[in-house]
Amino acid sequence: MPPVTLQAPSKLTSGVIAPPPAFHIMLKPRGAICNLDCHYCYFLSKESMYPGSQFRMDEALLEEYTKQYIAGQRVPEVTFAWQGGEPTLMGLEFFQKSVEFQQKHKRPGMRVENALQTNGTLLDDDWCAFFKQNDFLIGLSMDGPPRLHDAYRVDKGGKPTWEKVMAAAHLLHKHGVRFNILTTVHAANAPHPVEVYRFLRDEVKTEFMQFIPIVERDNATGYQEGNDVKDRSVTAEQYGHFLIGIFEEWVRRDVGRVFVQIFDVALAAYSGNRPGLCIFEETCGSALAMEHNGDLFSCDHYVEPNYRLGNIQEIPLIEMVGSAGQRKFGTDKRDTLPQYCLDCEVKFVCNGGCPKDRILVTPDGEPGLNYLCAGYRAFFNHVRPYMNFMTNELNNRRAPANIMGYLAQQDKRLQELFNRTNRNDPCPCGSGRKFKQCHGRKK
Ligand code: SF4
Ligand code: SF4
Repeated sequence: MPPVTLQAPSKLTSGVIAPPPAFHIMLKPRGAICNLDCHYCYFLSKESMYPGSQFRMDEALLEEYTKQYIAGQRVPEVTFAWQGGEPTLMGLEFFQKSVEFQQKHKRPGMRVENALQTNGTLLDDDWCAFFKQNDFLIGLSMDGPPRLHDAYRVDKGGKPTWEKVMAAAHLLHKHGVRFNILTTVHAANAPHPVEVYRFLRDEVKTEFMQFIPIVERDNATGYQEGNDVKDRSVTAEQYGHFLIGIFEEWVRRDVGRVFVQIFDVALAAYSGNRPGLCIFEETCGSALAMEHNGDLFSCDHYVEPNYRLGNIQEIPLIEMVGSAGQRKFGTDKRDTLPQYCLDCEVKFVCNGGCPKDRILVTPDGEPGLNYLCAGYRAFFNHVRPYMNFMTNELNNRRAPANIMGYLAQQDKRLQELFNRTNRNDPCPCGSGRKFKQCHGRKK
């Protein structure tokens, strides 16, 4: 990939509109530098955008960023989000300093949160004690049990990393650090939804999970270009099947006990609220990314020259966030939706998904359909009756978790019917198939 020189602010910043009352920036103090070499990582290639750089945010810039980021928020809380590459490669002192700057610059009464995404391999007692003391929320990347995790998550020598990540999970538990698991869904683990879910729930013992689909573009630049994806990517059908598989287990035994991000999104939307996650919101543009040298980009998935808004040492952060170009980046998500999405029965929750994945053409030939459409559509339709039940519980000030008791009764009743059904009868589940080709197959 040719090196790219990033000097002039892009035309995205021309014209300032109004900044949103709150915005979110993923900060990459070590840029794309990482101690692992996960095959599907979309960020490692960004190293080539800064030839000769040390990839290390200095203290003066850290303080400047802290000041501007806090000043830009017109709400009483602010979250500092640390990402990479691998942010822990900055060393503990950097984060101690950052907490110091946050305390120095926060407004009276303001709540400051920190969220750090890590591969976990460098965590030790000192790190975890620091996280606990400063109430960091940790996102730990783990793709399932060893053979599924190590399929792609390897170190620079190609060696497996599962053991170190598992050790990190134990350390986080030991110190009582709040953490969630970020699992990417790809060709290796997608066929095993229930195994992955049970592993995270029962072995890692996490209560918070995110399942992020890998849609990896197949091109030479590493940018969001071209319409081909690599074989490691999950297919849309696999992703839908994966989510449904986990949902079926969750909705029968873990509601209110285990929190899966996309299930929360679905419940929010089905109960008449905003989905709450940028990819499923109507518009986006309030979740940006900043590189180690102060360069600001429209989004973590668009750290590339055409989406560079400028550098916070040259242009005030708030001006770039509120610029006309950045607002347009966000509203384009809504304004470029194909008619196929506008007519879709689950548009209210899907909203066409993330623009970075809109590489398909609709059946009637319009570009801009999401690569994951078939999966999203299957999942959001599948959960409708369950979401409607839980919404009704919420509206009547009852716990959504009541659905588990209801389903247990339903399942029991169905089982009784199965026991009385002959092989060639229609299946009592309502599938329209013969019993022997449906639930009677085992019998
Ligand atoms: S481009 Fe995608 S990931 Fe980025 S802010 Fe928009 S919806 Fe979110
Ligand atoms: S499910 Fe497919 S058609 Fe429906 S809004 Fe999402 S991407 Fe568009």
